[in-house]
Amino acid sequence: MNIDTTIVTAGRDPESNHGVVNPPVYHVSTVLAPTLAARAANYAARQHRGRGPLYGRRGNPTAVAFERAVAAVEGGYDALSFPSGLAAVASTLMSYLSAGDHLLINDAVYGPTRNLCQGILKRHGIETTFYPPLIGAGIAELVRPETRVVYVESPGSLSFEVQDMPAIAEAAHARGAVVIMDNTWASPLYFRPFDHGVDVSIQAATKYIVGHSDAMLGAVTTTEAAWPTLYDGAHELGQCAGPDDLYLGQRGLRTLAVRLRRHHETGLALADWLRGQAGIARVLHPGLPGDPGHSLWKRDYLGASGLFGVVLEPCSGTALAALVDGLELFGIGASWGGYESLVLPCDIAALRSATTWDAPGPVLRLHAGLEDADDLKADLAAGLARLARAD
Ligand SMILES: *Cc1c(COP(=O)(O)O)cnc(C)c1O
Repeated sequence: MNIDTTIVTAGRDPESNHGVVNPPVYHVSTVLAPTLAARAANYAARQHRGRGPLYGRRGNPTAVAFERAVAAVEGGYDALSFPSGLAAVASTLMSYLSAGDHLLINDAVYGPTRNLCQGILKRHGIETTFYPPLIGAGIAELVRPETRVVYVESPGSLSFEVQDMPAIAEAAHARGAVVIMDNTWASPLYFRPFDHGVDVSIQAATKYIVGHSDAMLGAVTTTEAAWPTLYDGAHELGQCAGPDDLYLGQRGLRTLAVRLRRHHETGLALADWLRGQAGIARVLHPGLPGDPGHSLWKRDYLGASGLFGVVLEPCSGTALAALVDGLELFGIGASWGGYESLVLPCDIAALRSATTWDAPGPVLRLHAGLEDADDLKADLAAGLARLARAD
């Protein structure tokens, strides 16, 4: 079945819900069992990592419907949901790592993931080494006997370096490490994690899966071999997402394929156009020929999302504000993956420890939303004109 079909059908079962198309929202804490024997049977199924409803935190049907849908779309064995993308990242790392273990993580990782490694993971005796995002097969030299996890976020957060996933996975697996990937940028549609050696794939579903900038949600999908560790860890940590947010997640998922195609086209069109504009030093988008990550992106990815970066020529804070503050269609805000366009200045240098970030001027992260591409271009053109005048 083509993935565009899977995305529409997975995790839905209208027949068991009065014919209603979408899985219903179950608000659950207590789940009643008709007899002691039935309760004991349900509990026993849990010992074998069953998914039936036992309590609000365990087996809410709204959660299971979302999780089954995400697992099918990611192409993995099974999935669990979390109340945010960062909760998914944290629970995953805490599930696979123990005191004394070593973690290898990409230096261009999402900032809050870096904070987690330097904060609670460090305090719990887990040592992190940040590796250069373009290390590729060279990562083998950094893998130690106690390295339990190699964590990849590709492309790099804010800077968009594409990583050689198959080469990294091969080096990690040769030493018995688990390969975890934050696959939020491409979504399961444009990067197939389990075809490239990933064992555990994380989605900040807040972004493209929810897709409408109104709910926080995370999802983690694993291979069959990696599943028990995630299942046990997430349950020990008490992770569960709210049913209304899970509902929005499964609803957003149904239209992901058409939305993402548009984000891809508009993002690439804007990136290509920006590359030739005065005031722009560099465009960070792996879908552009000539980008350092372009050949790996072409080899491994099926498309690009709408998120990319631009490096400006050196300019004053006043000039930067003139550009950004006057934009009418690009909102100044964090997150991305919704229908609207966004812009955010980012300080990449402050988030590096294994590599240095050397760009001539400030970096803007742009999210190309679903607006008309020419309208977005005109908004940016007016912004660049304000920048030129202010300098
Ligand atoms: C946003 C984001 C997260 C965290 O997701 P939240 O839902 O905001 O907690 C994790 N990884 C990446 C790549 C993200 O962009």
